[in-house]
Amino acid sequence: MRVLLVEDDAMVGAAVRQGLLLAGFAVDWVRDGVQADAALASVDYDAVLLDLGLPQRDGMSILAAWREQGQHVPVLIASARDAVADRIAGLEAGADDYVLKPFDLDELVARLRAVLRRRGGQAKALLYAWGGQLVMDPARHEVTLSGAPVGLSAREFAVLEVLMRRPGEAIARTRIEESVYAWGEEVGSNAVEVHLHNLRRKLGIERIVNVRGVGYKVDA
Ligand code: CA
Repeated sequence: MRVLLVEDDAMVGAAVRQGLLLAGFAVDWVRDGVQADAALASVDYDAVLLDLGLPQRDGMSILAAWREQGQHVPVLIASARDAVADRIAGLEAGADDYVLKPFDLDELVARLRAVLRRRGGQAKALLYAWGGQLVMDPARHEVTLSGAPVGLSAREFAVLEVLMRRPGEAIARTRIEESVYAWGEEVGSNAVEVHLHNLRRKLGIERIVNVRGVGYKVDA
């Protein structure tokens, strides 16, 4: 899952970025609305974490403009503005949630996962495939196959999560790559293929289907 972090404060930004990385997200960090616009135009993000007090343009007006343009990416506002009126304005401008600074990183990650879940139409915290044989708990970073735990690297887990969030749907390799790697990360040309190969080795080759010319899928 790839997140765009919009935060002008160097210390807050570095801490949040680190927390999200540890939780297994790929993170791109930008400092203002212009950079955020450019990033959103080029990458299909799973979610945006948006500060309100930004240079030049306020986060609230940035969000309102996105929604007006039909940009539906899930947005979590993170702000020190704790007045009820600010929180209401944020939600009415189209935010999916509003967290108050200073926030606990674990709570932030939990809220982010909840937003992703709601947007994915999944009420439960667990992801399922193969008629329930394959189960993923994103919050705990655990995968079980027929009840037995499967040891996966962080990247393998991230690749599998992209597939399991849309079971039965073939996802293009480039889309998987975009979800799993942030800017500036070294991505070998066949990195995603290597992770898929390892996943097939660990889960069984039939678990991850290559739909020729389209992408990869796990059966629901
Ligand atoms: Ca700020």
